Amino acid sequence: MSPMPERNLKIARFIGVTPSVAYCDVCMLAFRTRQENLHDADLAKAQMQAEFDRHECRPEQQVVDAALVNITNQPK
Ligand SMILES: [Zn+2]
Repeated sequence: MSPMPERNLKIARFIGVTPSVAYCDVCMLAFRTRQENLHDADLAKAQMQAEFDRHECRPEQQVVDAALVNITNQPK
């Protein structure tokens, strides 16, 4: 029932077994593990998942730019 598109948290980088950088595969927003969580893989994952669940996906800037160009190029 959710209007949100299907989105997934993708882990981009690990430090050892701990994910250090992840991103949303819909809006490409990046999430970084806080320094104090880097020693604990489970804490790091929980922190990223919480931030991921909270964030709002924004339309890609290119899409917005293209829409603006279309508006300004409309014949008078
Ligand atoms: Zn997103």
